[in-house]
Amino acid sequence: MMRTRAAVLHEYGTPLAVCELELDPPRAGEVLVRVAAAGVCHTDLHLADGHLGVGRHPIVLGHEGAGVVEAVGDGVAGVRAGDPVAFCFVPACGMCGACAAGRRNLCETAAAAAWAGTLLDGGSRLRLADGTPVQHFNFVSCFAEHCVVPAACAVRIPAALPLWQAALLGCGVVTAVGAVRNAARVGAGETVCVIGCGGIGLQLVAAARLAGAGRVIAVERDPAKLALALARGATDPVRAGGAEATRAAVLALAPGGVDHAFEAVGAAATIRLAWDVLRPGATATVVGIAPAGVEFSLPALELLSEKGIRGSYYGSGDAAALLASMAEMTAAGEFTVADVVTHVTDLDGIDAAFARLRAGEGARTVVLVDADSAGYG
Ligand SMILES: [Zn+2]
Ligand SMILES: [Zn+2]
Repeated sequence: MMRTRAAVLHEYGTPLAVCELELDPPRAGEVLVRVAAAGVCHTDLHLADGHLGVGRHPIVLGHEGAGVVEAVGDGVAGVRAGDPVAFCFVPACGMCGACAAGRRNLCETAAAAAWAGTLLDGGSRLRLADGTPVQHFNFVSCFAEHCVVPAACAVRIPAALPLWQAALLGCGVVTAVGAVRNAARVGAGETVCVIGCGGIGLQLVAAARLAGAGRVIAVERDPAKLALALARGATDPVRAGGAEATRAAVLALAPGGVDHAFEAVGAAATIRLAWDVLRPGATATVVGIAPAGVEFSLPALELLSEKGIRGSYYGSGDAAALLASMAEMTAAGEFTVADVVTHVTDLDGIDAAFARLRAGEGARTVVLVDADSAGYG
C-alpha cells in the first residue's frame, strides 16, 4: 500500500478536495502509473454535478491523461516500468458480445465495471484515510499523482511525445477522430458541420480536415473558440445565436445541407440543429454527452428524406489502437493537439477549470500533476 495525493469528489456539486489517499499496488493484469498530466473534460464535470446517475462518490475523476509506468502486476506484458503511457478508458475484454462484434468501445464487461466505479475485478484500489473505498472513474482516475489501471488502459506512446500533449489524446482525440472515421466515415471533399467548439469540437474540426473534408463549418457562441476552430482548419465560422438564425447561416454556406453534422455540446437544441442542417440522406453524429433526462424531438416527416442520427461513443471502434496511432502521428508532427490548450493548472485548480467549462470559457485545461515530467513549456 502507498499514499498518493488526489482530488476527491465527496458530494455532487461540492468542490474537489485534494488530499492523501491510500492506493493498493497493482494486482494481476494491472499497472501503477505516476501521472504527469491530465485533461479536464466536460464528462468529469457532468459526474461532479450529478448528471451521470446516483451514488458515484466518493470518487477520483480524470479519464484523460498520461504518465510513466512505475510498476506492473503479474501477467502484464505490454508495458513495463519506465514506459511513457497515455490512458485509454475502455479496457475492452475481447470476449463479450460487443467485442466479438467488433465494437470494442462498447465492451460490456468494461461498461459494467465503469458504471460501478471499480476496476475489472469489481474492487477499488483507492481508500480514504478512514478506510472508506473511493470509486475509480472510467478505470483511470488520473486527477491524482498515481493511479492503478487495467493494463489495457495504459497505452505505450513514443518517448518523444511530451506527456502534457499525450494527456489530450485519450478522450478528446480518440473520440473525435473515431467519430469522423468510424462513425460518420467522412470522405474526401465532403462538407462537414461541427456544432460546439470546445475540447471535443476542436478535435472534430481537425479530424475532419485529416479525413480530407472539403469545407468544415464551425458553429460556436464564443468568438475566441471560433478563432481556435479556424486555426485548426475550419473553413467557415458561424457565430451561434438563435436557433433559426444559426440554421440559416449554416444553410447559406451549404445550400441543400451538409454531408455530415457533428454535435459536440450535448443539448437538445444543438442536436436538433445538427439534424436541421443535413442534406437529404445524410446522418448527424452526436458526440456531446447530455445530462441524464434530456430528450430531443425531430420532425418525423423528414425521415422521408432518409436523414439519420446516431451516437458515437469513444471513437466507435478500437480506442486503444486509435490512441496508439494518434500518439505516433502527434509525435511525428502530423497532428497537433497543443493549440487546444487554453489553460494549465495543478490538482488544486480543477474546480476553476470546472467553472470555466460551466461558463463555456476556453477550450481544454491541462492539469500538470507533475510539471517536470509533463514537459510543458
Ligand atoms: Zn472526456
Ligand atoms: Zn468486451
